[in-house]
Amino acid sequence: MKQRVSFHTLGCKLNFSEISTLARQFEEGGFERVGVNEPSDICVINSCSVTEHADKKCRNLIRKLHRRNPDAIIAVTGCYAQLKPYEIAQIEGVDIVLGNNDKGDLYKRVVELKKSARAEVYSCHCEEITRFFAAFSTGDRTRSFLKVQDGCDYKCAYCTIHYARGSSRNMPIADLVEEAKQVAKSGLKEIVITGINTGDFGRTTGEKFIDLLKALNEVEGVERYRISSIEPNLITDEIIEFCARSPKFQHHFHIPLQSGSDKILGMMRRRYTSAKYADRIEKIRSLMPDAFIGVDVITGFPGETEADFRQTYDLLAGLKPSFLHIFPFSERPGTPAVEMADKVPSYISTQRVARLEELSNALHYEFCAQAVGTEQEVLFESTMRGGMMYGYTGNYVRVKAPYDKTAINRICRVRMLSIDEHNDVLAEVLA
Ligand code: SF4
Repeated sequence: MKQRVSFHTLGCKLNFSEISTLARQFEEGGFERVGVNEPSDICVINSCSVTEHADKKCRNLIRKLHRRNPDAIIAVTGCYAQLKPYEIAQIEGVDIVLGNNDKGDLYKRVVELKKSARAEVYSCHCEEITRFFAAFSTGDRTRSFLKVQDGCDYKCAYCTIHYARGSSRNMPIADLVEEAKQVAKSGLKEIVITGINTGDFGRTTGEKFIDLLKALNEVEGVERYRISSIEPNLITDEIIEFCARSPKFQHHFHIPLQSGSDKILGMMRRRYTSAKYADRIEKIRSLMPDAFIGVDVITGFPGETEADFRQTYDLLAGLKPSFLHIFPFSERPGTPAVEMADKVPSYISTQRVARLEELSNALHYEFCAQAVGTEQEVLFESTMRGGMMYGYTGNYVRVKAPYDKTAINRICRVRMLSIDEHNDVLAEVLA
């Protein structure tokens, strides 16, 4: 009887691409992959540690899995495992903890593992994290997350990622092209290029991000690419012009702002000003007026006054991005922000989140409503809900249409008919 393995991802797209790769290794090794709620002999968790809440979620998940599968092997890797391996190792039921440098050995270590009273821990200091765990996702969704870069050297004042993921590093373009070909062979049509500081690609190979995009653009069978996120100081004119020209690179950008106040950006140790940020958005809009622009914003960073927040709000209201990802400041141990004065009370931070959410809802509605009455291309996904199938246009408007098996994982021409309260656009498939 095959051993059953369940895989649990917390956090970002990168974690998702890595857990999908680990799952393939177990399946190729003769294990049976089972769903997250099914009985398992082995449970593999790829953890996140972006906030204190993320750590707590992981601890709760471990306890739940142990209750459900008391004899199962529980293996934990990822950013929480890198930052606090012994905290995790002490939780009942945990058998092995691997930091991000050892993630690539997880399959081998679990296969060799002998259950014992004490959890095995494989971890190292963040400055020693040098290995690149190659990863891309297949089989789980209609698009694949392709990991092109890992780690970050920026050390923004509120962020622990450098300590969790180590220095910026990447795989050679030639190897990534081979991985994209494997994704195409698996039948997937869309790739999301992902990393920690994706635009910083090339640190360890001396190659350029734009050259990676050009090389991937030539891969047959992949019809669409999205860039998961890119820093404002790294999205060059050349990258924007290339995406505008390329039929494959979608008009969809995710560019973290964090604050619209130059004072706060300086304290955050971000590498751009609000004017530079606005300039990037205007450059994109000048070549791709229909582009979807997603923006990350942090409220309540130490020292943020009402006037600073107003600058953030007014900048965004003026630039009219398509959607805001809003985070209340979360103090992370070991970061410079912990030592900073003028902490913002959490109720004020929460109020500022609510004000930006209101703005984001209005901006997102306005952006999606513009598509009504137009014809678009949509890649429909396999999930059916209420007799409807769902998918996304190139510029990331979510679309629904009556379920049609023949349209799944195909790029269809549609007429956009009307918008609903979720900002989903009802469409009619034309071809
Ligand atoms: S660029 Fe992003 S990942 Fe890197 S330190 Fe700053 S916030 Fe963290």
